[in-house]
Amino acid sequence: MDTAMGNDCIFCKIVLREIPAHIVYEDADFLAFLDIHPQSPGHMQVIPKKHFRWVWNVPNVGEYFEVVKKVALAEQKAFKTDFILSKIVGDEIPHAHIWVFPNDKVVGDKNDFAGNAAKIRSALAMIQ
Ligand SMILES: [Zn+2]
Repeated sequence: MDTAMGNDCIFCKIVLREIPAHIVYEDADFLAFLDIHPQSPGHMQVIPKKHFRWVWNVPNVGEYFEVVKKVALAEQKAFKTDFILSKIVGDEIPHAHIWVFPNDKVVGDKNDFAGNAAKIRSALAMIQ
């Protein structure tokens, strides 16, 4: 298990703010931001801030899933749908990540990153 920051890891660079991203949630251990290639409006990636190769390497995986639940509930509110999908695959970027995204029937522009991030942030503020 590699817990060192990967030099070329895109997600570690987002954590370090070396690459810009529309961050919607952050706490001591986890970060959620909009995917740059969204499948639907508000498509997010939820990651541990430390570099772990797989979701299954994250020691506090229970807290990780609490964060995933929180942002999924915020998406339900932000995009007015119960239909929030998630995926754990892990072969695209070698840093643990969980996809959270509404189905593509929701109203909105998936490329309106600033607008979608603002919607999710305000929904999060209501449920926290
Ligand atoms: Zn990383």
